[in-house]
Amino acid sequence: MNEDKAILLKKLEDQLISDATLPLHQSNLVFGEGNINCKVMFVGEAPGANEDREKRPFIGRGGQLLRKNIRAIGWKEEDVYITNIVKRRPPENRDPSPEEIEAYKPYLTRQIEIINPPIIVPLGRFSMNYFLPLAKITRDQGKAFRTGGRIIMPFFHPAAALRGTTVMKQFEAGFLLLPLLAKKIKSL
Ligand code: URA
Repeated sequence: MNEDKAILLKKLEDQLISDATLPLHQSNLVFGEGNINCKVMFVGEAPGANEDREKRPFIGRGGQLLRKNIRAIGWKEEDVYITNIVKRRPPENRDPSPEEIEAYKPYLTRQIEIINPPIIVPLGRFSMNYFLPLAKITRDQGKAFRTGGRIIMPFFHPAAALRGTTVMKQFEAGFLLLPLLAKKIKSL
């Protein structure tokens, strides 16, 4: 099962590499990393400069905050899976465009299908709106939504948490809910 998933993910990564129709080909591919049998998958927006260089998601300042909060609830970073919707860095750290999000969406959809996590935590509004098109990040962060056979619990993007104390508190509070939620899921 695990081996099958690993093979399917490798195939998907190869498809991403060879898909010449995808935008942002000047940047490196940042596919995602972590436990492919995870209970919780975190989905960000797009890699930044550090991520592009190391070909790993969330390793800059925002990533450090994300990873610190995962450890703070007694989990290891390797217990979860971390990825982004857009798998290559938009230049100048700008937000991903709607076209870029659309282009990479089918790959995230397939990645989720293969990994099949019971809980997904979208980080920030771009990622949240992929799962919950009508949700508002200020209103809905930290709430659990049941959709498509999974629980979706959006959090603020860690970069937003780094910009303000109120958002930081809400971001941190969200993590405290995750162990309870994970425990409720029997198959985990
Ligand atoms: N911001 C994101 O949304 N994803 C990353 O991987 C890094 C920063």
